[in-house]
This record gives sequence, C-alpha cells and structure tokens, in this order.
Amino acid sequence: MKPKFCPACGKETDVLFNGLCESCFGKKNKLAEIPEKIKIKVCSDCGKIEGARIRKFDEKEVEKIIMKNIKTNGKIKDIKITERNDIVKIEVSGLMEGKIEKKEILETKIMIKKRLCEVCGKVRGGYYEAVLQIRSGDKKKIENSLNILKNIISKKGVITKIEQNKNGVDIYFTPKKILKYVLKSLPKTKEIKRSYTLVTKKDGRDLYRNTVLVRL
Ligand SMILES: [Zn+2]
Ligand SMILES: [Zn+2]
Repeated sequence: MKPKFCPACGKETDVLFNGLCESCFGKKNKLAEIPEKIKIKVCSDCGKIEGARIRKFDEKEVEKIIMKNIKTNGKIKDIKITERNDIVKIEVSGLMEGKIEKKEILETKIMIKKRLCEVCGKVRGGYYEAVLQIRSGDKKKIENSLNILKNIISKKGVITKIEQNKNGVDIYFTPKKILKYVLKSLPKTKEIKRSYTLVTKKDGRDLYRNTVLVRL
C-alpha cells in the first residue's frame, strides 16, 4: 500500500479521515457542540419556563434544556454534566467516523431571564377565564376545599383573586381548561352548576368565561 500523507501535519498514515490524519481530524472536528450561552426565560410570577409546557422551573428542567442544546456529530457513548454552576461543564465521549475515540468537555453559561409570562401579565391586569363558586352552610368545609383548590389551581394555572362572601368563596382563575381537573380534586359535592358568559370576540371567535357553582 502506498503511504498517504496528512496535508495538515505531513504525517504518514494508512487511513485518512476526510483527507486528514486521525489526530488532525480530531482537532478539526468536534464530537459535540453547545452554544456559549443558553438563555432561559422564566416567569417571575408562576415560575413557568417560556416555551415549555411544564410550569415548574427546576434543576431537572434546566438539565433537559442543556441537553437539548447539544449538537453531536458522531456516535455518543456517554454524556454527563460534570459541573453545574452558572458555568456548566458537560463531558461527552463517543466515536467519530466509526473509529476515532473522542472525549470532550463542553462549556456553556446559563442565563436566567426573569419576566412575566403572557398569562401572568394578563392576570395582573385582572384577567380570568373561570370562576369557581364554592357554597356550603358549613364554614369548615369551605375552608378545607379552599385550601385544596388553591393548591391544585396554582399547580396548573394562575389565581387572579379570591373573594370571600357570606355564602362561601369565589375563586377567579386561568385557564378554564383545567376546570375538569380542578373539580375532580373536591371530595364530595351535592351540586355542580355550570354557566357561561360571553366576554368578547377573539379573532372572530366567541370567548366565554366559565362559572361553576359547587355546593358542598
Ligand atoms: Zn495530521
Ligand atoms: Zn407566569
């Protein structure tokens, strides 16, 4: 076999990868890449990450976002976060071109931008999509269900306001699509009455506000 020479370093070699010796190919081609900075927008009111469906901003979600930002060009054998401060280090190892073993340390900076999400912005202006009216002669029952509801609604939505009155309590919240899930959290109900109010037209469609009266 005729010897080949690497045009970059002049080394004699049997195999060229993309016209380069193994060492030069490894230096020139990255197994994995990550942007220098990753910006994550988090709502300062509800903690939702912009663009994500989940509400809670936590370490696990940050890791998912980091992993999503990594671009790989080979067969990855192992990938792990080795340092997690403002600066994040990720160790990646794998194979390039089927036979070049590589291990790389990637580095990126996580930048958290706090700001109000669209829903919370509206809520601050008094917006709500649903009203839950809890009624009972038993004050204790109202108090108990209010605690349950506050917790369950804040998990998937945002509460605009809570109004106590002599018959019970009214909870104003968004979005209305969680109503079914919210109602399921109430233990025993004597009556559930639904009504709808036309609020406005949005893009030519009627927009309704849902009111649900629940007797305990
Ligand atoms: Zn070379
Ligand atoms: Zn929010």
